[in-house]
Amino acid sequence: MLNIIETNLQFNGNKTIRDLSTIKRIILHHSGVSVLQTVETIHNYHKNSRGYAGIGYHFYVRKDGNIYRGRPLEYVGAHAYNHNADSIGICAEGDFNLETMSDVQKNAIMELVEYLRGVYNISSVQGHKEVCATSCPGANFPLSEIVNGTITKNETVQTTKSIDEIAQEVINGKYGVGEARKQSLGSLYNEVQAKVNEILLGKKTTVAKKSNEEIANEVIAGKWGNGQDRKAKLATAGYDYNAIQKIVNQKLR
Ligand SMILES: [Zn+2]
Repeated sequence: MLNIIETNLQFNGNKTIRDLSTIKRIILHHSGVSVLQTVETIHNYHKNSRGYAGIGYHFYVRKDGNIYRGRPLEYVGAHAYNHNADSIGICAEGDFNLETMSDVQKNAIMELVEYLRGVYNISSVQGHKEVCATSCPGANFPLSEIVNGTITKNETVQTTKSIDEIAQEVINGKYGVGEARKQSLGSLYNEVQAKVNEILLGKKTTVAKKSNEEIANEVIAGKWGNGQDRKAKLATAGYDYNAIQKIVNQKLR
């Protein structure tokens, strides 16, 4: 489930409105610095120091996989000189000439690209360096993977449901058996399966809980999604979202 975090960034009059039907391309960038930056920091820098209307990118994907709205799509971006009019600019937090990208960030960008491809008439996805003289988005940026990639979705469960509800669905045959069930239930499998056994066999099996540290590593590996989706999944599985998010942020610093 794609989750775009809406922002309330204020843009000045120095912008060009476009018709959304003119959008044909996605251009990928990196922030080019290793320090963590909020979307507001970049917005203020572009607005106050560069004289743009506001942040030049339409989306900003942070290292923790959270996707933020930057410039509204109906404003022409300011991210690739001479290539802004028909494109959407996506910026990944980090310097990918020096760093490698975590799976959680890569998956988020792939999901965003897939979503945009489904909504707009996108004919190409390019790295900034393919259209301008720059090293952006960096030598280690997983460009071909993102451009060609198809996302394997292994968590198809609606996590707004309780474990009891999902267990009942399992019993009703909704998620199949064996490996198929495991695939569909993803990170919820152990807990749901324990509940299924409890209902069917009348036995209580306890699910060994992982440490927050282990879960934080799984979050970084992309196993828990992002944004509200991640929050819901962790809560459903009985974990403390805030405590885990804190560890994730420390690890990505
Ligand atoms: Zn760039």
